[in-house]
Amino acid sequence: MRIVLGTCHHDCPDSCGWEVTVDEGVATKMRGHAEHPFSQGELCPKVNHFLERVYSPDRVTTPLIRDGAKGSGRFRRTSWDEALALIVDAVRERVTLHGGETVLPWSSAGNQGLLQMSSLDRRFFAALGASTTHGALCGSVAKTGHAATTGTGMSSDPTTVEHSRYIILWGTNTRLTNRHLWPFVERARAAGAKLVVIDPVRTITADSADWFIQPRPGTDTPLALAMLHVIIGEGLVDRDYVEAHVSGYADLVSTTGEWSPARAAEECGIDAADITTLAREYATTRPAFIRTLIGAEHRANGGMIFRTLACLPTVTGQWRHLGGGLSRSVGSWFGDYVDDSVFNPVKAPRVRSLPFTQLGRVLTDPQTPPVTALFVWNGNPVITCPNAALTRRGLVREDLFTVVSEQFLTDTAKYADVVLPATTQIEHVDVVPAWGHLNLGWNGKAIEPVGESVPNTELFRRLAGAFGITDRLFSLTDDELVDMALRDIDATVLRRDGFVRLPNADRRLFADGRFGHADGRCDVSGIVYQPVARDESRPLVMLTPKQHSRFLNSSYSHLPAHGPREGGPFVEMTADDAAERGLLDGDVARVANDRGELRLPVRVSDRLGRGVVAVPFGWWDAAHDGAVSANDLTSDAPTDMGGGVAYHDTFVEVSRT
Ligand code: SF4
Repeated sequence: MRIVLGTCHHDCPDSCGWEVTVDEGVATKMRGHAEHPFSQGELCPKVNHFLERVYSPDRVTTPLIRDGAKGSGRFRRTSWDEALALIVDAVRERVTLHGGETVLPWSSAGNQGLLQMSSLDRRFFAALGASTTHGALCGSVAKTGHAATTGTGMSSDPTTVEHSRYIILWGTNTRLTNRHLWPFVERARAAGAKLVVIDPVRTITADSADWFIQPRPGTDTPLALAMLHVIIGEGLVDRDYVEAHVSGYADLVSTTGEWSPARAAEECGIDAADITTLAREYATTRPAFIRTLIGAEHRANGGMIFRTLACLPTVTGQWRHLGGGLSRSVGSWFGDYVDDSVFNPVKAPRVRSLPFTQLGRVLTDPQTPPVTALFVWNGNPVITCPNAALTRRGLVREDLFTVVSEQFLTDTAKYADVVLPATTQIEHVDVVPAWGHLNLGWNGKAIEPVGESVPNTELFRRLAGAFGITDRLFSLTDDELVDMALRDIDATVLRRDGFVRLPNADRRLFADGRFGHADGRCDVSGIVYQPVARDESRPLVMLTPKQHSRFLNSSYSHLPAHGPREGGPFVEMTADDAAERGLLDGDVARVANDRGELRLPVRVSDRLGRGVVAVPFGWWDAAHDGAVSANDLTSDAPTDMGGGVAYHDTFVEVSRT
C-alpha cells in the first residue's frame, strides 16, 4: 500500500491538495492532504466522490468510432491504431482541400494542470498550420479590466483577507465556489472584521454576511463610481499614495463627480444612504479588502467593472496594508516560476484566430476557409458555451470531422466522429498552478491509466507520430516536461511535499506602488459606464449562477452521486414576477427568447430582485429528455475587454406552458 500526493485539476480557485491510497495498483481511498496550506485536509462534495468517477462503468476506456447519426451517441469500439488512421486520413483530406486553417483546436479549463491543460498540443497544431483561438469563457475579462488600471493581472493574495478589518465579497459566492477561503474570512471576522456581500443574488454567502447589498445585475460600475464620489467628496482619499503612484486622477474625479449616490441608487436599485455608508466604512477602516472572482465579468460591460473596482483600493491606499487591497485570480503570480512558453512552437505559423467563446457561430457562419476538422479536449462546449443550439447546429454538419478526447460520453462527445479515451487526474503526472492561492501543487500519478485512456500529453504524442510530425518535445516524458518549465522552484520539495509556496508570495502587492504600467503608476482614467441595452419584449434578466455543490460547470452532473442529488434544472424567480405571469412554485414554465426555449419547473424564491430570474447550468441534455442547458438561451455577445462572453446579458420571458 502506498500514498500518492496530488492536486485537484478542476476549474476552481482552490486547487486542493489530496492524497490517494493505492493498494495493489487500485486507488482505494482519496482524501484531502492535511498539510496543504490552503485546503487543509478538506476536498469538496464533488471530489469526495472522485474515485467513483475514476472507476465509473460509464468511463470511455477505448477509442470509439461513430456508428450512427451525429448526436445519437452510437459508437463502436476500436483500436488506437484504427482511430489514428481514420483521423489522419480525414484531416489530411480536409487540409489538402482547404489548407491547415481548416483545423480548429478547442480546449477549455477541464484540466488546469500545466501539462494537461496546454503543452504539446501547441506544437502539434502549429505543425498542422491549424487555426488558433482568442478569448476565454472565464477569467480573461476580469484580468484585462484589472490590468487596464493596475498594469498587471496580479492582484492581492486572497489568504491575506484574514488580516482584514473590513471585507467586501463582491459578486462572489465564497462559501460555495471558493469554499477553502471561507475559514480565512471567518478568522478575520472572529478578530472583529465586518463582512459585506454585494451580489445580485442572495447566495449562501450573502446569508452569512453582516450586511448584504443587492444591486441590479450589471450595475457594479455605477455603484463603485458612487463610492468613489463619496470618498473623493468627503476627503477620504489617501493623498500621499495617489500623488506618488496614480495617474489619471483628475479624470477619475471628473467622472465620479457625475455619479452621486442618488443617481447610482436609481441605476443600481439600492438605497443612496447605503452607498454613502459603504463608501465611508470602506475608506476609513484599515485594512479593507475586496474579493471578487468571475461572475461580474460575464457582461458586455464586464471588463469595465473590474477596471473600476481596482480604483477603490488605489484611491484609498488600501493596497498599503496587509489585509488590504483587492483580490481576484492570482494565476499571474505563477508566471515567474512556471514558464509555459517553453511549449510554444519554435516557429509559429501566421494563422487566423477565431473567437473561442463563439463556437456555434464559428461552425455555422461562412468562414474562409471553413472549419472542417475540430479537435475538442478539456471541455464540453455544448453545455458550457453560450447559444448552445447554435453549437449543436454546427456540430451536426456532415462535412465537419470532429475528434473529442474525453472521460465520458458528454453531450459534445456524442457529436464526435472519433472519441479518444482520456485519463483522470490520478492517472497522470502534472503540476497545478492555482488561481485562488499561492501554492504550486504537485500531482503524482497514483494508478495506471484506466483501460486504454491516455493523458493529453500522450494524446498529442500519438497524434504527432501518426501525422509524421517530429519535434524534440514529443520524445520527453511528462516529468521531463514539468522540469523544463519550472523556474526557481525546488522540484524535489514539490514532489516530496505535494506543494511549494511561491518564493514571491510574501510580497505585498502595490504597497509601495510599482504598478505594472510602463511609468510604474496606476491608471485610473477612462472609466465609463455603459448600461446594458434592454430588450423590452423580454423583460426578465436571466442569470446562470453556479449554485450546486456537487457540480462543477458540466462535470459530475451525470454521475449518480451528483446530478440526481441536486434535482433537475429549474427557473428561479420572485413570487411577484411569478404571480404576474400566473405561475406558482412547482408549475412548469416556458423560458424563452429568440435563441431557444426551455420548459422548466418554477422555483419561487426571495433570493433575487424583481425582473431577475436564474437558471443554473451544468446538467447534461443526455441525462434528461431533451435540451436542458441554460446555455440554450444565453447571449454569446462579446464583452468590452478580454474576449469574454456576456452570458448574463440574457433576456427572457417566462410564461405558462
Ligand atoms: S473542485 Fe475545488 S474545492 Fe473541490 S477538491 Fe477541487 S479544487 Fe478543491
